[in-house]
Formats: sequence, C-alpha cells, structure tokens
Amino acid sequence: MSIAENLDRVRATLRDAAVAAGRPVESVRLVAVSKLQPVASILEAVAAGQVDFGENYAQELRDKAETVTAPVRWHFIGSLQRNKVKHVVGRATLVHDVDSLALAEEIGKRSGPTPTGVLLGVNIGEEPQKSGVLPADALALAESVARLPGVTLRGLMCIPPAVEDPDAAGPYFAALADLAARGRAAGLPLDELSMGMSHDYAVAIRHGATLVRVGTAIFGARPPKTAAPA
Ligand SMILES: *Cc1c(COP(=O)(O)O)cnc(C)c1O
Repeated sequence: MSIAENLDRVRATLRDAAVAAGRPVESVRLVAVSKLQPVASILEAVAAGQVDFGENYAQELRDKAETVTAPVRWHFIGSLQRNKVKHVVGRATLVHDVDSLALAEEIGKRSGPTPTGVLLGVNIGEEPQKSGVLPADALALAESVARLPGVTLRGLMCIPPAVEDPDAAGPYFAALADLAARGRAAGLPLDELSMGMSHDYAVAIRHGATLVRVGTAIFGARPPKTAAPA
C-alpha cells in the first residue's frame, strides 16, 4: 500500500468514527507521525494533502522543518528535555507532551512574541514507569501553565497503558476527556484532546479526541532508531 492509499484509509476510518460519535469530521485533526521516517515519505504525504506532522525527537524535527519547504504544521509529540526546547520553539505549532512547570517556563522563555501552544501530557493510567503529570495534579499544573507568558495552554494529551484490545483503552480516553471537561468547567482552556494512535484512534475519537497521532498506519513500520542523539 502506498502512503496516499494508507492516508485515504485512515481518513475514511476517522470520518466514520466521527460520524458514529455524532461529531463533525472537522473536529478531529489527523497528525501523521513521521518520526524516523525519511523526508521523502513526508513529501509523499504532503502530495496527498496531509498538513499536520508529528515528530518525537527535537533535532529531527529541526532538521526536517528546515528541509521541508511545503507549508506543513509540525507537532512535537515526544518527551522534551529542557535543553532541546530551542530546537522546537518557533517550529512546532503545538508541543503535545508538557509535563512540568519548568518545561513550560522554558518553552515560554524561548518563544518570541508568538506564544507556543502546549498540551499537558497526563499519565492517565498512573503507570510508574511513564512520564506525564498524574491526573490528580493535572488541573493544578494547568492553572500554573495557563498563567505563564510565552505559552498558550490548549489541552491535554495521553498515551494509555498498552492493551491488546483497542476498546480496552476506552476508559482511559474517557478519563482524559473527563479531566479536560472538569478543567474547562473551572475556566481552563482545555479544548484539545490529543489521544489515539494507529491501533486505537477510532476508539479515541469516540471519546472526544480532537488530535489523533497516527504513524504506522500511514507510513508503515518505522526504521529502527539509531544511536544518534535525540
Ligand atoms: C510514535 C508515536 C505515535 C504513533 O504511533 P503509531 O503506533 O505508529 O501510530 C503516536 N504518539 C506518540 C507519542 C508516539 O511516540
């Protein structure tokens, strides 16, 4: 299958899931996760009308953003170290996985007159080995981040615990949606929900995802990550 064919299939699944959930198709944005994929693959997706691309590694995003001249939107979806913020700010339209005030402050400090959009990465399954703010602490962090100069808080992001059956991720997506709704009720700007990957984006859309991050289903298997610095 070509990238264009894969994109057609993913878009159809996205559309069906949105319609089934009674949501406008435009309320869900497809972020094509191009980490470790060559620029040629990104250009194929661009030719097929794809605009939003997700990258996990700061220098890789910087290098690709400098190589791809088409007007794409870059999303930084990986965990970001503070010393790599400089590679991402000014290039990424949205940083999806901000999980500390210190990181948000660094992004704010590095941003020019245009604030950088951020989502808070929530450890929704409360898994000890995972990063992300715990659900119980997420809204307090959101309040602090919302007050910072140089960043615009836009919503929440999660990666649920790995489960075989995509439907089993449903309760985690529902929990993230519920957390965002509670935050909005308290006046916090949490309209975006970044959740859902290749195997479970249809389930995430059912639970309110506004950004789905889909890699393998579009680009195929990823080349292995080499020892190059992230
Ligand atoms: C790699 C990655 C994805 C894409 O995963 P696929 O299973 O290839 O769709 C989505 N989100 C994050 C945070 C990732 O690191």
